[in-house]
Amino acid sequence: MDFAYTPEQVQLRKSVREFAESEIAPHVLEWDEGQVFPLEVIKKAGELGFLGAIFPEELGGAGLGYIEYSIIVEELARVDPSVGLIVAAHNSLCTNHIFLAGSEEQKQRYIPNLATGDWIGCWSLTEPEAGSDAAGTRTQAVKQGECWVINGGKTFTTNAQYADVCVAMAVTDRGASQHGISAFIIEKGTPGFRVGKKENKMGMRASATGEVLFTDCRVPESQLLGRQGEGFIDSLRTLDGGRISIAALSVGAAQGAYEAALKYAKQRKQFGRPISEFQAIQNKLADMATAIDASRLLTYRAASLKDAGARVTKESSMAKLFASESAVQVCNEAVQIHGGYGFIKDYPVEKFYRDVKLCTIGEGTSEIQRMVIARQLLKS
Ligand SMILES: Cc1cc2nc3c(=O)[nH]c(=O)nc-3n(C[C@H](O)[C@H](O)[C@H](O)COP(=O)(O)OP(=O)(O)OC[C@H]3O[C@@H](n4cnc5c(N)ncnc54)[C@H](O)[C@@H]3O)c2cc1C
Repeated sequence: MDFAYTPEQVQLRKSVREFAESEIAPHVLEWDEGQVFPLEVIKKAGELGFLGAIFPEELGGAGLGYIEYSIIVEELARVDPSVGLIVAAHNSLCTNHIFLAGSEEQKQRYIPNLATGDWIGCWSLTEPEAGSDAAGTRTQAVKQGECWVINGGKTFTTNAQYADVCVAMAVTDRGASQHGISAFIIEKGTPGFRVGKKENKMGMRASATGEVLFTDCRVPESQLLGRQGEGFIDSLRTLDGGRISIAALSVGAAQGAYEAALKYAKQRKQFGRPISEFQAIQNKLADMATAIDASRLLTYRAASLKDAGARVTKESSMAKLFASESAVQVCNEAVQIHGGYGFIKDYPVEKFYRDVKLCTIGEGTSEIQRMVIARQLLKS
């Protein structure tokens, strides 16, 4: 067991931080208020390898591991959780599903374009009537000759409005339950495929979230991703990795809020002294820093096991559950330390507080994470 970062990891954190401070920080408020998707900055992140962090260099990726990927998401989220979310959904969900389940031809066609950020990816599992119970998918794909014809609609898809490629799950055999759902790769511009309503959200407002709709959308057999009927099972494998990125996103948001609160506590004077001298405020800061460290360690444990090739269903759910719930508490206390100013948009904690709530919901709610963890515990 080694708790030290490698020199490369230290350098990576420094580079991502510099990028986030210079390219993202000046625009955070404007993007949030206007729900602006920062396409130009996302393209620059692609040039730096952040959009292909975990994919091999021969496929255009950065060839990094999950620890490095966690560092990237964490540092982006420390400045703007929305950007962390865009990068996480692109890497972990869309591209990684293709990497895990795709044929050689599919990997060659899609991963280099996605890993470099030439194309943006989205991943559509959730439907209006199938959220936590994702196996209740209603979108259907019917085989007609050499094609699949997809009908139905997905909701809450991150990056939907900007995606060039969408991985979507659809029922191909209604009688086969979880083994009757297949995954498809759909390219922007395919007739019958369109993006619907963009959601007006409480937080993560610079990340676009929207509907993905299929009306007699005809795709060739080559767009079936993975084995027929295994799309749901592959989605669960995809989410094992995705939840590490949501844990890292939570750590980054909590870190950003904590740093702002620490700075403010040292500057703000009441009763003739900085509020950081009051024990009540010191206790909050101590609890916040401890929760962030514990979250980071759980995230890196899951990341390091994943890099070692282990199955991380339990560990990634534990990391996501603990880190997201802790991050909500940390951001809440960061607002509290700011008093009335914490409620005002001139200070960054107000936005962290709104953004971070998504981490306890996306890629499976906290209630679902507990179910996943308990199922793994009871198996042993
Ligand atoms: C901003 C945003 C981005 C998203 N991005 C994506 C994306 O890119 N792709 C994608 O496919 N999805 C995405 N989602 C969807 C997200 O994964 C779902 O919202 C989430 O899984 C919960 O589903 P739901 O909203 O239908 O809630 P529901 O499933 O209706 O849950 C409502 C409540 O009931 C609880 N609950 C449900 N079932 C149980 C149970 N068995 N036991 C105990 N409690 C239960 C839940 O925990 C929750 O508290 C996104 C959502 C948001 C808000």
